[in-house]
This record gives sequence, structure tokens and C-alpha cells, in this order.
Amino acid sequence: MSIRYSKQIFKNVNDAFEQRRAEAVSRRSAHRAEAAQKNARFAAIERELSQTASGLIGAVASGDNAKAAAEAAREKSLALQKERRALLLEYGYPEDYLDLKYTCEKCKDAGFTGSEMCSCYRRALNEEAHKTFNLSVHMPNATFETFDTSLYTGETPPNMPNPRERSELVLNACRKFVHNFGKSGWNLIFTGKNGLGKTHLSSAIAHSLIDEGYDVVYETAGVIFSLMEDMRFGRATEEAEYRTERLNECDLLIIDDLGSEFTTQFVRSALFSIINGRLMNNKSMIISTNLPIEAISELYDERIYSRIAGNFTVLELYGEDIRLALKNK
Ligand SMILES: [Zn+2]
Repeated sequence: MSIRYSKQIFKNVNDAFEQRRAEAVSRRSAHRAEAAQKNARFAAIERELSQTASGLIGAVASGDNAKAAAEAAREKSLALQKERRALLLEYGYPEDYLDLKYTCEKCKDAGFTGSEMCSCYRRALNEEAHKTFNLSVHMPNATFETFDTSLYTGETPPNMPNPRERSELVLNACRKFVHNFGKSGWNLIFTGKNGLGKTHLSSAIAHSLIDEGYDVVYETAGVIFSLMEDMRFGRATEEAEYRTERLNECDLLIIDDLGSEFTTQFVRSALFSIINGRLMNNKSMIISTNLPIEAISELYDERIYSRIAGNFTVLELYGEDIRLALKNK
């Protein structure tokens, strides 16, 4: 599994690990101070242990009788540790009370053992990526498993599957999209009225891909256009610049709610440049819109319509608002 999360995710996790290490050190200091209060010998043992360790390094470096000196230092160190253990027991402390205690003993909270990424670090990255995703779309529980096709009811359009069957087909296509992700620059466009689960499905795809280590960005169309407008007119904050960069760089870009914004010439060319740029780089997109697909050519322009029609799989949902069915359940 490759891990392709954004720099920000890595930074957040590295900061957290650094804090973990600092906390381990300060916890030990507190324990040492506490023990020294009860018996000054605790502090003396720590001092002697560290002198023995630096004496050992000196002996090895000087080379004279290095072997004998090292052996003596090792014995002294063992004796001191034994004395400390006995003293700890005497005062009712656990044996390892004065040791550095890490959250993960395997990597000592470094995140890596040598060049190998520790499983604790991998897990922390994954959690951070889900957390960050959930800040932009508040659907932490939107998974394929929680997508309930039994909620789909209503009229069946002529020569079409009924709403429930249609939702099952769409769900299968979404699972297939995840399964094949990375092998081709496959793109999806969800169409259908509000309340038909479009955001649920795109979030479910996002959560699955984040678990596989992919970098997923979710933005509403309105936010994307205002970010690009800020860039265009030189008023972008650092945060806006970063978010704009990510629109092009991420593995999957989800553009939610296309067509609800006020369409201007600027919006049309911004949309074209994002879609075209990602298509050229073989990077996947998911768009969701309340518009029927044909309306896109009227609202935007022919160039955008032809890119979408030629490169996106259209997944249309229909039927009654599932939020009502959910309420009545
Ligand atoms: Zn670890």
C-alpha cells in the first residue's frame, strides 16, 4: 500500500509524534523528581548511571584497555540498575517507573524503525486523513455499508429500472470505482435531485480510498470558484493558495453541488481549467450536481460538456427524497 496523503497530514502527524516523545520525557522527569523526594539515592543512581555510560564511550574512544574498561562499566551499570529496582520495589513503585515509556514501544514514538514506517504511524496518518476529510464534509458514517437502498421509492421512469434497483446499480458502480482506482483515470458524475444520497456515495468512496492511502479532496463548486477567484485577483491567503494547489494535486477531487453557483465567464473558464487539467494528468474526479447532464452544456459551455460527456460515467439517481423515507422508517 502506498501512502499519498498531503504534506499537511504528514506535518500534523509528525507534530503529534514529537509531542508524544516530549511527553514521555517529561513524564519520566516528573517520576524522577517524585522518587528523589522520597529518597535522594534515586537521583544519585541516575547520575552514576549516566556517568558510567559516558565513561564507557570514553574508554572505547581512547582504545586503551578498552575491552576491560567496557566490561567494568557494564558490570557497574548492571549493579546500579539492580539497586534501583530494589529501591523502587521498596517504595512501592513499578519496576519500570523511571524508564522512558512510549505510546509505541516498537518505534519509541519515532514513527519509524530505521527506514521502515511503523504501523502506529501509518494508523495515525490514516486517522488524520479521515479527520481532515470530515472537516470538509460532515459525513463520517457515510460508507457503502450504511448506504440503504431500501429507502429508494417513487415513480419509475419509462423503460428504466425502479428507483431501488437504480440505487443498487449506482452503488455497485461506486464500489467498482474504488476497486479500480489508480489503474485508470476513471471519473464519475452523480446527477439527481437533492436528498438522493449523492454526497453519501461520494463520501463513502472517499473514506474507502483514504483507507487505501489515497489523497482525497472534497470541495463544493462554490468554494472552488471563490478560491480560484481569490487567486486570480491576487487576494488569496496562504490557506487559499494551498487549497487551490490541492485541487490539481490530489488523487481524487470531489466537486460537490455543481450548478448551484452563479455562472459567470470566470466560473466557466475556471471549471474548464480544473477539469481539463486533471483529465490531461489522468487524475480522477467525482462531480455531483442537481442538474440533468444536458443542462451542463447550457449553463457552462460546449467544451466543458464534451469533456464531461466523453470522460465521466453518469450515475443518475431518482425517486423520492430518501431523507423523508428515513424519517418515516
Ligand atoms: Zn510505532
